[in-house]
Amino acid sequence: MTRTIEDLIPDYLRGLPVYVPGKPIEEVERELKIHAVKLASNENPLGPSPMGIAAARAVLGDSNRYPDGGTHLLRQALAERRGVSPEEIFIGLGSSEIIDLAARVLLRPGLQGLTSEGTYAPFSVAIRASGAELVLAPQREFAFDLRGIAKAITPNTGVVYLANPNNPTGSAFGREEFEEFLAAVPDGVLVVLDEAYIHYAVSMGLRDSEEAYRKRKNLLILRTFSKVYGLAGLRIGYAVGRPELLSAMNKLRTPFNTSGVAQAAALAALDDNEHVTRCIQSNATERKRLSEGLAKLGFRPVESEANFVFLAMGPEAKDLSEDLLRMGVIVRPLGWMGFPEAMRISVGTAEENAKCLSAMAQVILKRAGKGELAAR
Ligand code: PLP
Repeated sequence: MTRTIEDLIPDYLRGLPVYVPGKPIEEVERELKIHAVKLASNENPLGPSPMGIAAARAVLGDSNRYPDGGTHLLRQALAERRGVSPEEIFIGLGSSEIIDLAARVLLRPGLQGLTSEGTYAPFSVAIRASGAELVLAPQREFAFDLRGIAKAITPNTGVVYLANPNNPTGSAFGREEFEEFLAAVPDGVLVVLDEAYIHYAVSMGLRDSEEAYRKRKNLLILRTFSKVYGLAGLRIGYAVGRPELLSAMNKLRTPFNTSGVAQAAALAALDDNEHVTRCIQSNATERKRLSEGLAKLGFRPVESEANFVFLAMGPEAKDLSEDLLRMGVIVRPLGWMGFPEAMRISVGTAEENAKCLSAMAQVILKRAGKGELAAR
């Protein structure tokens, strides 16, 4: 019997879903011949850090050289800011790479990876791709049920993934709740705390999660330059974690995972306080405006601590997203994240949010007129 290449692909990889990115704006504009706004991928609507872009431009001409594979300058700068040593900083090709590496290093068939229902889909993908069993704890009121997650830990659990604030619901847990959770997690289970949106969570007092990290050996904190720093297209993120774990992750990553351009931009963006503050303030103002506008239209958005708003609406969620798309407003239907009756709208600029609210008002009016709108 001859073996085919497909035969070599393990069963646990065959069934994996493909990541569904938000529709590119250019594609929508080309297909529909309209001007579109993209509120689908939680990007920074105010653009990249100007200091980051200037630094990136300055090193573009060195692109014939390989980048610093050890990311020394950036790790040093992050270590100083986070009060840890450079050996406790890992630089990844976006935090996406680190989500995957944690599972690849620690999980395998026979072990379990645990996360919640209704969270960032790549957590589940990373767990399943390692050959481990995926265990999903139920959510409560669109938020993590940390006590429920702690109870779902078994002797086979290797890694637990949490996002704070959570994508796609925008909810966040506070310091006390998290500390209670950590106290219930055995030392031999790694907790991955993904803080992609933490800058926007002004009310949670949780930005100094290294305090919890200092007390625990089993915490890996993920952050990204894709959101508040506006560098999503450059693909760079980092983790704070124990040197033994990071050193194993370093063996698995590709030697030059992040480009020199991305490293330079990230390093400069760290000092761009003006941009960071402006982005946080604008997001807070616009998130309020968007949430209130949606509430006026009869929706009940989940209180958001991030740069997007989650709307549980009903079976028409997908159709409404398509109606909005035809009007040049790209939002994210959430069937692929386990919420077929919900959509997520990223907080845009004032102009983008106004366009979104006006398009939403028109599409629900049209559907209500045709009797096609479930009660909200
Ligand atoms: N983690 C969460 C919770 C996210 O929502 C995202 C992106 O949207 C990421 C990680 C990925 O970030 P990065 O661009 O750093 O790979």
